[in-house]
Amino acid sequence: EIAPKGPFETGFYSPDYDIYSESRLTLMSDLRDALQQNQTQLYYQPKVCLATGNIIGLEALIRWHHSERGWVHPSDFIPLAEETGVITQLTRWAFERGIGDLAQLLTDYPGLDISINISARDLTSRQLKNLIQDRLAHHKVSAERLTIELTETAAMEDPDKGLEALKALAGIGLGISIDDFGSGYSSLSYLKQLPATEIKLDRSLIIDVGSSKTSKVIIETAINMAHGLGYPVVAEGVEDEETAHLLRDMGCDRLQGYWLCHPLPLPELKQWLSEPRSAI
Ligand code: C2E
Ligand code: MG
Ligand code: MG
Ligand code: MG
Repeated sequence: EIAPKGPFETGFYSPDYDIYSESRLTLMSDLRDALQQNQTQLYYQPKVCLATGNIIGLEALIRWHHSERGWVHPSDFIPLAEETGVITQLTRWAFERGIGDLAQLLTDYPGLDISINISARDLTSRQLKNLIQDRLAHHKVSAERLTIELTETAAMEDPDKGLEALKALAGIGLGISIDDFGSGYSSLSYLKQLPATEIKLDRSLIIDVGSSKTSKVIIETAINMAHGLGYPVVAEGVEDEETAHLLRDMGCDRLQGYWLCHPLPLPELKQWLSEPRSAI
């Protein structure tokens, strides 16, 4: 069964409908079991380079089909997993699975990069860095092929420790993508210290770029600032061609979104990668 394409489709279980927090705890113990028994999946969403039209990377996104509740949306269990600490197990699972899949994909697409999302809580975990190095070595994959996505807010939860941890991860060769940029409070002085390799503009900025002069100005400014600091910019959540062309003309470097491709399970993703595509 393929997960519904968008979060707004019906058929998703939402724990918000539950009055008793007990069911939220049940959900977390179910998630633990699902992770352990490999009942969760990673879907992959491609990222395209606007200058060349080449697919340069994939973002790994967790999908969970609960045996009784059906599809549970990440936004309904990631925050809960962060609160309860289950995120540690989820992140380990995501890196184990993601690096294994990456190794497979690299045989046919040697230039590809996989991005994996991490939470604030994972960032300072020494075990995580060890696990990543161990899995990369096991699969004989170069750290350059793997990127960590985290929000600026996550890095700033404990700025000194966050920066130190990011530098350690960047130090082993991993890419660092600053996710959801523009969705919270940004500190430019902090941003310029981060060992980032990419800035990802939040969908909330992209969504009305075609109609709102303000959004257009904000995006232009963000792109100029990122370029000034030496970071390439990726736009997330691009849903139509008009927006894609607009962003390309504004100097945005990379793009991700339903317009290009929905997140797909690995076999479908491989199929999609093998099909010819027209230039952007
Ligand atoms: P994110 O990292 O910002 O991921 C982008 C989200 O936007 C994904 O939602 C993706 O499916 C969705 N998306 C992509 N293109 C479009 C588009 O054109 N239109 C719209 N409306 N949405 C689009 P998803 O998969 O539901 O994930 C939501 C959030 O949950 C992610 O936001 C990320 O913060 C978190 N998440 C997902 N997977 C993982 C994971 O494995 N580990 C961790 N720690 N967090 C994860
Ligand atoms: Mg992300
Ligand atoms: Mg994002
Ligand atoms: Mg986002």
